[in-house]
Amino acid sequence: MDNFRKLGISEPILKSIKDEMFENPSDIQEKSIPLILKGRDVIAGSATGSGKTLAFACGIIENSEKGKGIQALILTPTRELAEQVAQSLKTFSKYRPLGIIAVYGGVGINPQITGLRKADVVVGTPGRILDHLERKTIKFNNVKTLVLDEADRMFDMGFKDDVERIIKRCPQDRQTLLFSATTSKELVRLTKNHMDNPVEVSVDSYVDPKKLCQTYYNITDELKFSLLVHLLKHETSSLAMVFCNSKRNTDKVAKNLGLKGFSAGAIHGGLSQNRRTDVLKQFHNGETSILVCTDVAARGLDIHGVSHVYNYDIPRESKQYIHRIGRTARAGAEGKAINILAQSDYDNFSRVLKENDVEITEEVLPNIEKIVIRQPDTNKRKPVTGNLRKGQKPNQRQRNRY
Ligand code: AMP
Repeated sequence: MDNFRKLGISEPILKSIKDEMFENPSDIQEKSIPLILKGRDVIAGSATGSGKTLAFACGIIENSEKGKGIQALILTPTRELAEQVAQSLKTFSKYRPLGIIAVYGGVGINPQITGLRKADVVVGTPGRILDHLERKTIKFNNVKTLVLDEADRMFDMGFKDDVERIIKRCPQDRQTLLFSATTSKELVRLTKNHMDNPVEVSVDSYVDPKKLCQTYYNITDELKFSLLVHLLKHETSSLAMVFCNSKRNTDKVAKNLGLKGFSAGAIHGGLSQNRRTDVLKQFHNGETSILVCTDVAARGLDIHGVSHVYNYDIPRESKQYIHRIGRTARAGAEGKAINILAQSDYDNFSRVLKENDVEITEEVLPNIEKIVIRQPDTNKRKPVTGNLRKGQKPNQRQRNRY
């Protein structure tokens, strides 16, 4: 505990850290906590898994008091991250309880309105926060700490203007903490306009490069799925994440893995919040060992024990590659990132190699059994019937029923 105490963390938070059985501060915690506790604005280069939540939690818990209005606001790109951050804040404030609420879209607004009346700390996604601002169900005049968590991701998701609108509604004499795995011109501009003489801290790497093995297979498009099945059968993995670039591919791969007897769940932005939560729960508690996902699931989620990351599609944006592989080889564990490459991935793959400092070695193709992949929903199609007369062609609405 002394290593944490040295950073200036107070006893109630130290006690909760002890309960969590953390032995030593992570790199980002060591570098940022003393600055955060001094009240400085901080730009921290860090990704999920770096321990950034505890870093900003320390400042927030130290500076907030129960029943004094909303004193801290944390903006996150996704609902899942909002929930996760709120949960972590509750854990670390166990001995100094605060009213902590997560607000995000896709769920009813009324319980949030009630919860916000008693909240000291709000974690939320930009869209829903703006919604509350417009309805005047949230007030920021007492905000002392503003955290932009995974700021790069928020910008990538098109929340730039929303984030700026929210920042402008917070008091000027606040502390602003920005966490981001990557940087961009837009982010630099934001930090210049909205931060007060910020200190920059960064950690060298999100994953331990010595523990992460990155490989690729070169294969034809129609054999991608067969190779994935072969690897899933032959690699000894604990939990595996399979990344696809589209919702359609995600559903297709998950469904076909199910048909081959694997316990696989799919998660992407097209699913309801309840469905996403259920799938993640099953993956967390080991009911499913394979999570097929789009990049929505790649960021922010804290999933332990992922031994293998498969890129079924190579990401269009090369930075996403770094985010994806950051799901494994965490906290000293070994990890493997396997890229399944077909002609349609070549351009994306060259960008990954050009724009990132990564070493990915080619593997020899094993002998694989060819599996015919089924398209999703083919057996779910309903005939267009009902109000169609004989010989009449279906209109657009009727076609949409397919
Ligand atoms: P984060 O980057 O905040 O999402 O944290 C990633 C994971 O690391 C979470 O499960 C934390 O509970 C855990 N964690 C945070 N700080 C430490 C630490 N100093 N030692 C061990 N685990 C930690």
